[in-house]
Amino acid sequence: MESSRSLEHVLSMQGGDDVVSYVNNCYGPAAALALSKPMLTSAIHSIKLTKGCSYSHLKIADLGCAIGDNTFSTIDTVVEVLRRKLAVDKDGATEPEFEVFFSDLPSNDFNTLFLSLDEKVNGSSRKYFAAGAPGSFYKRLFPKGELHVVVTMSALQWLSQIPEKVMEKGSKSWNKGRVWIEGAEKEVVETYAEQSDKDLAEFLKCRKEEIVVGGVLFMLMGGRPSGSVSQIGDTDSSLKHPFTTLMDQAWQNLVDEGLIEEEKRDGFNIPVYFRSMDDIVAAIDRCSGFKIEKMENFKIADHMNGKQDEFMKDPDSYGRSRANYVQAGLKPIVQAYLGPDLTLKLFKRYAIRAAADKDILNKDTFYHMIAVSAIRV
Ligand code: SAH
Repeated sequence: MESSRSLEHVLSMQGGDDVVSYVNNCYGPAAALALSKPMLTSAIHSIKLTKGCSYSHLKIADLGCAIGDNTFSTIDTVVEVLRRKLAVDKDGATEPEFEVFFSDLPSNDFNTLFLSLDEKVNGSSRKYFAAGAPGSFYKRLFPKGELHVVVTMSALQWLSQIPEKVMEKGSKSWNKGRVWIEGAEKEVVETYAEQSDKDLAEFLKCRKEEIVVGGVLFMLMGGRPSGSVSQIGDTDSSLKHPFTTLMDQAWQNLVDEGLIEEEKRDGFNIPVYFRSMDDIVAAIDRCSGFKIEKMENFKIADHMNGKQDEFMKDPDSYGRSRANYVQAGLKPIVQAYLGPDLTLKLFKRYAIRAAADKDILNKDTFYHMIAVSAIRV
């Protein structure tokens, strides 16, 4: 997991459809998608297809598409809005055809995605041609001036790599004793921030090449409130976030039980950074290929809010649900680092810790997501 090359080859959401799969645990991105749908709809309406641009064949890409209902629902929205808009603009003269590229890292469970495609696409009136485009969105994925609409939903908070400095033993940016950056030393957070700036610049540079002038770029990503040093925002949400307290405790359990060396734990870092609106605006300004149409911060309620009474009666079931939820996003990278046995042990300990911590269980918590719609200029 040390280099970007290896992260690209192991990072994905958990495939399949069992209890720890992404398909069955994608609550946060699903809520973010629902809240941002009106904004996505108006973003698509702002597309400015000009002379020389074929109205009859439109190309759409979903970058970091993963698998499951969110993936199809995103594309359904885009295609439906485009179809209606073009019918109005063109007096319904030609029925446009849509080509959709589902893009994610190669370890994404494309098999599950494409197995359900027939049912999803043919079962609806919103037909499109589908293709897979494996690869990192921090690199070029398509030929120049090829795409009309690019969406990326709940994916850009994942960095291209773990910044090497956070694993340099003894350095000021060494992230000792924890697996993520919430509550870490300032230097550790700054190192992640530098990586995040570099990555977003690279993402925008690539999309600037690939999107036609007048085309739409819609980005929804995990974010933090403006001016917040914390990645999460409020203290309760920060304590209960899947990457913080309980996760560190579970890793510490493995160390204390002699199952792994401390050094092994210190070598694992979650490659996620939540940008603020200011971070995103600065990157788009520097790139100079896009004009921001709209930007919004969505506060997403944790899917377990309101169920505390039920969970207090059965904390074990809460612990298991929480551990399943965490695994949907983290199991593939943890397993690539620890192997299957230790991974199982880690998440068992996570479930036990989650069940034991009644204080955390009791709190309502929230995530922040930032949505940006931009036009290629
Ligand atoms: N868009 C989906 C999935 C979000 S999960 C939804 O709304 O539910 C985030 C996805 O981003 C994962 O599938 C992960 O594999 C993908 N991802 C992370 N880093 C990536 C990268 N560098 N290039 C392409 N995809 C990436």
